[in-house]
Amino acid sequence: VSIWANVPAGPPDPILGVSEAFKADKDSRKINLGVGAYRDENGKPYVLRSVQMAEAAIEAEKPDKEYLPITGLADFTKNAALLAYGPDSTPLQQGSVAVTQSISGTGALRIGGAFLGKHYPKAKVVYLPNPSWGNHTPIFRDSGLEVRQYKYFDKSTVGLDFEGMKADLRAAPEESVVLLHACAHNPTGIDPTPEQWKEISDIVKERKLFPFFDMAYQGFASGNIARDAFAPRYFVSEGHQIALAQSFAKNMGLYGERVGAFSLVCADPEEKKRVDSQLKIVIRPMYSNPPLHGARIANKILSDTALYGEWETEVKGMAERIIGMREKLYSSLTHDLKTPGEWGHIKSQIGMFSFTGLTTPMTKALAEKAHIYMTADGRISMAGLNSHNIDYFAESVNKAVR
Ligand code: PMP
Repeated sequence: VSIWANVPAGPPDPILGVSEAFKADKDSRKINLGVGAYRDENGKPYVLRSVQMAEAAIEAEKPDKEYLPITGLADFTKNAALLAYGPDSTPLQQGSVAVTQSISGTGALRIGGAFLGKHYPKAKVVYLPNPSWGNHTPIFRDSGLEVRQYKYFDKSTVGLDFEGMKADLRAAPEESVVLLHACAHNPTGIDPTPEQWKEISDIVKERKLFPFFDMAYQGFASGNIARDAFAPRYFVSEGHQIALAQSFAKNMGLYGERVGAFSLVCADPEEKKRVDSQLKIVIRPMYSNPPLHGARIANKILSDTALYGEWETEVKGMAERIIGMREKLYSSLTHDLKTPGEWGHIKSQIGMFSFTGLTTPMTKALAEKAHIYMTADGRISMAGLNSHNIDYFAESVNKAVR
């Protein structure tokens, strides 16, 4: 008998399952709203012009393929931190931020989890919003942290359960780790307002919680780099020592290139040095050193004024196309079709994802009758909608909820 005879089959990934069902559907009207990647006006994957220009410039330089250092391309990590923390960040100016390149946002979270698992001097408990990105739980659990939840989503208003969130954070044991989505919360599309972030910062301070920001969508949410970084920047200005996971998958469309960064705000440059040395010890046995190409692309864009300007315009363009789809969907449902229910959340939510409020049976009916695919929790990727399919989508939703 085989050594692996007793390995049980694991459950399929819920999001990849949606894509498979979509692929198998032969109807020409089919729409895939499961996948978390940007699509252009014609439903096609989109390579940014700034990325193409950066790649051409890199190609012309004929760079070698030597290994990067353990913590990656130094110019890239410097520029990534500047993008996240902003030019006015005191710890950045003082040289107190430890940064390492990572294998996109997932890798950043995993490095952060492993670092906390090893060096966080308090109870190794992390609080995640309920719901959160599905990968957060296994990432932190596999890093040796105990995973708990705080209230986030209010089903009845399809909005933020701010009172519940505050109560749960106040009730968390002192010095717990709390994971916060910096912007464009996945899967709900619901973010706290700046005023609410200030209250959250106060509670984090009162309870001595450790704030770990996951920023997978900087610029992609509102179209503005600084606005989307409001929460982590505000926390840093309030003196919090944050952890931060960054991804360039969405805002530069570098999904498969796996470009990200993980950083920790330290007390001073001497502490940063010690933390840097331990980040290397965490990373070295995991994958030795990160991939080159994507970091070169991102760094080229971040360090070249003209490319940066082009990129800013393109990020804004992606964000605005999505915001436009939200407005169109809202007005189709409420004004044109008079669809029963309250749909204001479609417009007020932000980023790629929207919790529609559609129930699991409705999502099933949409797949079977209208060839429209989304996750069973009613989450749609707005990026899958465009001017060619949005009327059909709105009409199908209208039928499904009646
Ligand atoms: N965090 C959140 C909240 C996300 O939505 C994603 C992407 N789906 C990630 C992290 C990580 O993505 P990646 O590893 O592709 O950067």
